[in-house]
Amino acid sequence: MSGIPYAEVIGDPIAQSKSPLIHKFWLDALGRTGDYRRAHIKADALAAFIDQRRTDPDWRGCNVTIPHKVAVMDLVDDPGNIRGTIGAMNTIVRQPDGSVIGTNTDAAGFYAPLAELDLDGAPVAVVGAGGAARAVLFALARAGVGHVTILNRSPLKAMGLLATFGLKGEVVGLDAQLPPAALLVNSSSLGMTGQPPLDLDLSPLADDAIVYDLVYAPLQTGLLKAAAARGLDTVDGLDMLIGQAALAFELFFGAAPPEGRDEELRALLTA
Ligand code: NAP
Repeated sequence: MSGIPYAEVIGDPIAQSKSPLIHKFWLDALGRTGDYRRAHIKADALAAFIDQRRTDPDWRGCNVTIPHKVAVMDLVDDPGNIRGTIGAMNTIVRQPDGSVIGTNTDAAGFYAPLAELDLDGAPVAVVGAGGAARAVLFALARAGVGHVTILNRSPLKAMGLLATFGLKGEVVGLDAQLPPAALLVNSSSLGMTGQPPLDLDLSPLADDAIVYDLVYAPLQTGLLKAAAARGLDTVDGLDMLIGQAALAFELFFGAAPPEGRDEELRALLTA
């Protein structure tokens, strides 16, 4: 115990995580004492990790990444019923009374760049049906989107998500033609460094469609390049990464991130 408040990000692997850069940038910018670390936690060590940390008064909590977002729900309190809604937790917070609660800031982080749009009844297409897709579909359902086309390698998993979030739509394979959607979201790992590319023909999308890629390594994915070449507006994965981190930062350190510093932060994250 050092007396210095700290939070961390846990996962397996974890070396790639940009969360420490983001949170330390904000701590420095605000002149606050605190730390944010990476912790490489394997699946069989997750329960012991949470048990150990819950007794550490300096620990403010942690962000949770692959592969722990579902398993961690069994280990913490869930006052917001995240299990019954999004079904995955990405932020764990230690309360002053020593209780440890879980929440999800991915959905709000995803939705923030779209908040000014009217998606009510809009047809959308979503690639992927993993943990990130759950946050995306939860947010899109709340925004009242219309017909949802999910493109995924494993169709059954995707069908379950349509039902879970009460969405009307269909599930198709990754080689299907896109619908004339107003919004296309890639929430799969395709296009990420080391993963196969996401090759989609974007011509069926509406002429004013927005293409949003959650992948942030690389930042300019093949999908975003193709969208820009078609003259479509794009949103990259750093917007969501910064958005979900901002909500978590406030829960950990009790202050909102500084305003007007996003460009500086983006430059740091892409350096
Ligand atoms: P996940 O739960 O492992 O899901 C991965 C998804 O990608 C599944 O739909 C999976 O299909 C699909 N997929 C993976 N490899 C594939 C392959 N070789 N061929 C076809 N489909 C494949 O991962 P996740 O947590 O949802 O993360 C997905 C992506 O979102 C990652 O790139 C992650 O970095 C990004 N992400 C970004 C943010 C952000 O803040 N920007 C936040 C969260 C996640 P199956 O269902 O068939 O397995």
